[in-house]
Amino acid sequence: MLFGADNLDTLVNWGLGVDSTAYIAKMLTDPAAHGIDLDRTAVLYMATGSEWPETRLLVEQFMLPLLREHRVRFVQLARTGQLKAAGITVLDDSRCPQKLYDRGPWTLWDEMEAVGTVPQQAGTRKCSLRAKGEVGDRWITPVFAGRPFRQVMGFNADEAPRCVGDEAASKLPGRTGVFPLRDWGWDRQTCENYLFERFKVNWPKSYCTFCCYPVSMGALPAHLERMRAHPDIAGQVLRLEYTAMSLNPNAKLYGSRSLLELFDPRLPRDRACLDAFERELDTEWALYRVRRLFLLSATGKRRVLRSVHRVALGSPTDLEQRVRAEAAAHGCKADLDPRYGRSRYWLRPRGEHLPMGEELFTTGPAHVIDKQDPSFERKWQHVVEPASTQLTLL
Ligand code: SF4
Repeated sequence: MLFGADNLDTLVNWGLGVDSTAYIAKMLTDPAAHGIDLDRTAVLYMATGSEWPETRLLVEQFMLPLLREHRVRFVQLARTGQLKAAGITVLDDSRCPQKLYDRGPWTLWDEMEAVGTVPQQAGTRKCSLRAKGEVGDRWITPVFAGRPFRQVMGFNADEAPRCVGDEAASKLPGRTGVFPLRDWGWDRQTCENYLFERFKVNWPKSYCTFCCYPVSMGALPAHLERMRAHPDIAGQVLRLEYTAMSLNPNAKLYGSRSLLELFDPRLPRDRACLDAFERELDTEWALYRVRRLFLLSATGKRRVLRSVHRVALGSPTDLEQRVRAEAAAHGCKADLDPRYGRSRYWLRPRGEHLPMGEELFTTGPAHVIDKQDPSFERKWQHVVEPASTQLTLL
């Protein structure tokens, strides 16, 4: 059911995780006492497409009935496509939500796989902005059209810097960020305890299965356990990482560490994840030509442009023969991974001084599409000697 939005004055951002779930569950015990008029409030959820199954199940088991009981307006959104111009999709908008939508027409996973990369660790969480922040803002902007509204954010009492950051980053006209958990003094543990007392379950962290942040935040053992509980998901994430690392050896999921190196093949539950990974690799492969330009901007910042072109399709072994022959013809050493099947060689290795160009041929699962920055060829010609662009493919 779709609603008009004229009467709204409060939005609650719900990421499905411990903090925002604890807030909603507690607030619903007495909305008025928590300054909430449910007739004028909507809960917003942005589907990324890769939430863990147990989070989805717990939401449907415990939280959706609560939302239905209190007739809370629950708006489920997703990005519609890769380009911003594709807009957003309203998956559901209801005071009687029957299910949690786990994905929309576009997902971060689709994007990562098509580009052959993993979420960036450094800098801003671009993936989160693309899959959640921008999506919510695009729904909010026409709904409020500049009218004042409060947006409740589930940052806990240990996350004061995030509250400050939210206030500084907020660009929506009329918006005031509200941080009730901080104001109540509820830290993470308090939220976990509350949900356990309320529902008798340990509410899990909410994040994409391929996210790097739980690990950088010190939750590696729990993260690996979650992978072991879902070997098929582990296999898919390993494939995503393996493809990304085929195109760029530095594209490890966790910065200095790869997911693959964290599994011990001698342990049965780890072995199950690795077996699932091998099943994922049993697909069509491609030979890719990958070129990277490392440039220096006028302000001294490093800028990287990339060109990926799919040269051929085939089985890993057939493509390996070709890589071996081409590497030999160009006097290069082939880099082979006999365990999982990748083969590659660098026609132009990465140098040390900017600007520079890197060029390699690599095999990997055939999920990556051709992609190149519009200015790439011109800049490549400028930076790299013309001779290297005239190579003959065997
Ligand atoms: S959970 Fe991780 S991968 Fe998913 S959007 Fe957030 S930061 Fe990105």
